[in-house]
Amino acid sequence: MALAYPIAVAAAFGAVIGSFLNVCIYRIPKGRSIVWPGSACGSCGHMLAWYENIPVISYLVLRARCRACRAPISIRYPFVELLTAVMFAGAFWFYGPTVLLISRLLFGCALIVLFAIDLEYQLLPNVITLPGIVIGFAFSFLTPPGWVASLIGIAVGGGVLWAVAEGYYLLRHEEGLGMGDVKMLAMIGAFVGWKLTLVALMMASFAGSIVGVLFIISRRGGLKYALPFGTFLALGAALAATVGPGVLNWYLGFYQ
Ligand SMILES: [Zn+2]
Repeated sequence: MALAYPIAVAAAFGAVIGSFLNVCIYRIPKGRSIVWPGSACGSCGHMLAWYENIPVISYLVLRARCRACRAPISIRYPFVELLTAVMFAGAFWFYGPTVLLISRLLFGCALIVLFAIDLEYQLLPNVITLPGIVIGFAFSFLTPPGWVASLIGIAVGGGVLWAVAEGYYLLRHEEGLGMGDVKMLAMIGAFVGWKLTLVALMMASFAGSIVGVLFIISRRGGLKYALPFGTFLALGAALAATVGPGVLNWYLGFYQ
């Protein structure tokens, strides 16, 4: 029970960060500044007052509509805020006040932004992935997986997908995987090391195949429908960072 209060504070802080991640998700693909100007309605430009900008609560009080023009507000806003709040609370509970907590939260925030932007725009912006590689590598000097595993993770993460992308291009003469996916997997490698990066890649491919097959069965897309692989990579990486070590131990247990 002694932890209830700091976990509640972590959740509230996470909701506020989630609100900032929404700004990133909305503005980065448009090439706009994430710090200026303040938040406004995407339809009419009405500048939001502080009480219209409270994570989750404002969405409920405004009943999902802009106060000025009544344009609907996307469910993505409260969803990202709630998800970030849960992530902050869960990570604080699991890692405690450590350097690894900061590293994991930065990683998680990057994954949430990449997940949402790739889902909507089929885009994985360099302004997230490239600094992500550097930051992940820098943290590896102080936290698991250590800098050697991190460096191999960058090489394996970037290298494996790069080879797949090149191979696909040579075979099909069209782009199956973008360089954004390659840089994102390198970022994942930097944060969690090469072993968990392979776990993340397997989980993402598995989830992507299932959704792909469902799409083909329901005939909503057909074979050429471009699945946002970064969205699945974000899910795979989140799973790898949390349950991945357990999965790895269980799997390797067969070979001991
Ligand atoms: Zn409006």
